[in-house]
Parts: sequence; structure tokens; C-alpha cells
Amino acid sequence: MRAITTPADRAAGVLLGLACGDAAGVPYEFASAPYDPHRGPEMIGGGLGPYAPGEWSDDTQMALCIARVAATDVPIDSAEGLDAIARGFLEWVREGATDVGTQTRQVLGALREDDGGPGLAERMAAIAAQLHQRTGRTAGNGALMRTAPVALVFVRDPERTARAARAIAELTHADPLAGDSCVLWCEAIRASVVDGAAHHPLALDLLPPERRHAWQALADGSWRDGGPAALAPNGFTVTALYAALHAAEQGRAAADSASSGAEHVSGPAAAQHAETTYREGIAAAVALGDDTDTIAAIAGSLLGAWCGANAIPGEWAGAVHGWPGHDAAGLRELAAAIVG
Ligand SMILES: [Mg+2]
Repeated sequence: MRAITTPADRAAGVLLGLACGDAAGVPYEFASAPYDPHRGPEMIGGGLGPYAPGEWSDDTQMALCIARVAATDVPIDSAEGLDAIARGFLEWVREGATDVGTQTRQVLGALREDDGGPGLAERMAAIAAQLHQRTGRTAGNGALMRTAPVALVFVRDPERTARAARAIAELTHADPLAGDSCVLWCEAIRASVVDGAAHHPLALDLLPPERRHAWQALADGSWRDGGPAALAPNGFTVTALYAALHAAEQGRAAADSASSGAEHVSGPAAAQHAETTYREGIAAAVALGDDTDTIAAIAGSLLGAWCGANAIPGEWAGAVHGWPGHDAAGLRELAAAIVG
């Protein structure tokens, strides 16, 4: 089934879908509050912040550091653009960060005294690479959770999108699995925004040939073999990608079953199908448990690309807000500025 949405609505859906997934998952992060699957996710705040009801967390905050540069004339993959993103991360830590992932905190903390001048992105990536050499464990989900805005920048160019996604991941996450997951997720979003079909993160041809073996379970579908129980804990970027994809697939399946498999291409039935896809996808992400806001944020960015911003439930879009002082209208404007 093809979406009834426009590319502009789907681009807005990426940012709004990310933010609403994040804010809907915040209350249940690491079981901060008990989750009742019969009620579904509710934006009641709390979580690790603690957050106000509807407030998004570090996932959306860091994504907006990227989105704000993407909305300017400076290419995000230029030295100047990468420096601006890196500077945004440092400003976020100083001014707005409500919670910071372990690995991101280690990298950004090492740059506390940095003046933010030219070459900052290289200095940041070098610290991330040293951390990887020292620990061998830098494939957390902290790059994947913020990658979605990258998909909106070079919408006609998959290769350039992939290079940008990896470069921005490597600012804090040197493990190639982190970069891979950002490449795969961004391509699914990019393609969905462009043509309105529900693309899955399967573009392994955008990874270097020597990296593709790491994603064999994605290519052959065997990542589903363990069922939902294998998708938590999900702090590892590979598990996080699978968990978010599971959630998106569950949302789609719930909408298909509610519409009796009928092919709706327009009208209220199509709008209902899109809203059910988004809502049930976020519910499936939160139901997995563990890092609920991050998995729902990642899933929400792809679900938003599939369904469009107008499919996001009004009570969520009306409540969502956060650093640096945005609400749903601000996210829509930002998306328009990026793709425009
Ligand atoms: Mg978070």
C-alpha cells in the first residue's frame, strides 16, 4: 500500500515522529514507571530526567543539534558543517542536556575545555576513536537515536546521505556498527520520504563490502528468530535497530489487521491506517522495555516517514515539546527548512 501523504508531510513526520516516540517512551525508560499495555504509552513525564509530561529527552535534543545545522546553507558533511554539529553537541551538554548517554558523556566530557574552534569535529571523532581503541565497546545506540535528520538533507542522493550519516555517527561512536546502523536507518527514512512506500533498512549495498556480513541476520530476516524477548536489553546499536524495526513492523501489521487487509489509498480509511500504524508502532517499541524512549524515538522516525506528520495522534503532537524550546509546530518548520 502506498501512503496518501506528501513528501513534505513525511519529512515533518520524521522529526515529529522521533520526538513523539521519545516523549511517549520517556516515562517507562528502564522501568521508571510500570507500563500497562492495555492503556498504551502515555506522555506522563517522569523517567530519568525527570521530565515534564510531553517533554522529549536526549534523543530528540541531540537530533535537533543536527537538524539545526541541516536547516542552514552549510552542508552537514562539510568540515564547517561537522564542526557546527559538534559545537551543537557541546552547547547542548552545557545548556540543555537533561540526561546524557554514557559513551556520549565520555566523549563530550573530554572536550569540556575546548574552545569550539575550527577542527572541533576532528578532535571529537579522534576522542571517540581513542575510546573505541581503549575499550572496544563503543557500539551503543546513542548515534542511531539521533541520526534521523541526516536522512532529510540529501534526499536525492543515497550515497551522500550514507557518508554523512556515518561521519556524524563517528563524532561520538567509532565502532563501525554504530555507523552502519545509521546508514541503514537513514536510507530507509530517505527512500520512504521520497516515494511514499514503507521502506525497511535493508540497503546493505550502501555499506562497505567488508561490513555487510555483520548484518546477515538483517538481510535474511533471522533477526526475528528470537522474538521480542531477544530485543531487550537494547542499548547495543544492532539490537536497537532490530527492536525499532520490530516496532515499526508491528505497527504496520496492527493497522493491516484493523483494516482487514483492504487496500486504502485515500480517504478516512487510509488516514486511519496511518494513525494506527504510528500509534501501535510506538506502543510496540515501549512494550519491549529497557531503553524505551530511545527505541520509540528510532522507530518513530521511520514510522513518521512511512505515515506522515498528520498521522501522529493529536494528543501526542499537541503535548510534545523540549530543548531548545520547540514544540510540534517548530519541528514542522525545521523539517521544511531542511528539505526546502
Ligand atoms: Mg533518552
